[in-house]
Amino acid sequence: MSVENSSVIPDTSSAGIVIIGAGLAGWHVIDAIRAKDKEIAITLITADSGDRYHKPMLTMAISQQKNASDLVRATGSDAAEAANIQLLANTQVTDIDPTNQTIQLISALRSDPVYTNYATISYDKLVLAMGAHPIFPKSLPEDLVWHVNHIERFGQLQEKLAAGSQRIAIVGAGMVGTEIAEDLLKAGHEVTLIDLNDAPLSQMLPAKATARIAAAVKSQGINFLGGYQVSDVTRNSDGKLQVSYEPVSATDSDDSQQPESLIVDHVIASTGLTVDDKLPTAAGVEFNRRTGIVVDATTLRTHASNVYAIGDCMSINGVACRYVAPLRAQAATIADDILGHEHGGYDHKPPMIRLKNKAISVMATGVPQAQGNWQVTTESDEELVMDLLDENNDVSATVTIKAPPTVKA
Ligand SMILES: Cc1cc2nc3c(=O)[nH]c(=O)nc-3n(C[C@H](O)[C@H](O)[C@H](O)COP(=O)(O)OP(=O)(O)OC[C@H]3O[C@@H](n4cnc5c(N)ncnc54)[C@H](O)[C@@H]3O)c2cc1C
Repeated sequence: MSVENSSVIPDTSSAGIVIIGAGLAGWHVIDAIRAKDKEIAITLITADSGDRYHKPMLTMAISQQKNASDLVRATGSDAAEAANIQLLANTQVTDIDPTNQTIQLISALRSDPVYTNYATISYDKLVLAMGAHPIFPKSLPEDLVWHVNHIERFGQLQEKLAAGSQRIAIVGAGMVGTEIAEDLLKAGHEVTLIDLNDAPLSQMLPAKATARIAAAVKSQGINFLGGYQVSDVTRNSDGKLQVSYEPVSATDSDDSQQPESLIVDHVIASTGLTVDDKLPTAAGVEFNRRTGIVVDATTLRTHASNVYAIGDCMSINGVACRYVAPLRAQAATIADDILGHEHGGYDHKPPMIRLKNKAISVMATGVPQAQGNWQVTTESDEELVMDLLDENNDVSATVTIKAPPTVKA
């Protein structure tokens, strides 16, 4: 490893394999490499502390009265020592030069670049595992709303909510929004869940299926506002937040549809993820902001030499890959490829998707998407099974929805 400014980098020995990002994806790659090679030099660079935690817990932890430190399985420094790697925590990668195989770093703790030390290190192999960022629409100012995409931010929210029952608006009823709504309700908070669509999970599943989810969510006491968009969030003089919302279907000439509003203590944005374009652009890899970095489906190599991608920042065959289950096999492929071991190639199978809510059981296989030829195969009060058929009438996805014994759809 060459280091041009060692004020950030403590150890100037060979960088070897460099991994950007210490989420589940980055740590899985380290585990996979260390399972095959105990010695090869690995440097993990991450903007956070590098602590190991299981991100899916963030939508279950508050009702279990767990705080951020309860969720940490190993601190970054302990995990780095155990794995015999160099950890550059609180360090942000700002640039990648794929021709010279170097990356540029700054301290993530100093916000003013004037006072920030830069360093450049080189890599033999680079793994991009820097995740995706929450999208904050203009109506949801980042300084007023929370997200639950990272343990640090989660920890700050959890501390505020520990003070007692509060009123919370969650914007976006995808999987994360729908799960956290139930978790906060179970923790004793008053929860409003707002979505553009008439029901949760409407981008993924057909209306017949999502209607059951909406019914279950409402019956447990969540105030679900379907078909509304948030137009503004402002802080009142008493510190409370005013959330203005209006029907999605309202037309400009429709005077009767005045914006409504609710007053809450906290707003959580759960309005999707986007991949920051800076590093992919610098690295010269093929990339789409919405789905992520394009990789070869069998090797997980990007289009830049010696650069791989994994986790929330990556997509396979045009589909973002934002689930935990495939990470182990993906990391094993990257490890073999990096180490020059023969391997049969990664064989992507979409993971089973399971909503963590207890009010209703929702499971999907394949690649579910709302639009398409969905056909009912089983329908009763207790259960709904639907298949998504492709143009050849083959099943490309299946959703199974079951009501728990106490909650009828
Ligand atoms: C609340 C929630 C619940 C979920 N539940 C489930 C579930 O039940 N089942 C499931 O399969 N999936 C679930 N997911 C999705 C799953 O958790 C993610 O797909 C996975 O954790 C992503 O891991 P990652 O390592 O790719 O990204 P991240 O965890 O986002 O890690 C990215 C890392 O990159 C670092 N980084 C970013 N930019 C830079 C930079 N420029 N320089 C240095 N470091 C950088 C960050 O600091 C971070 O350490 C859930 C997600 C959320 C948010």
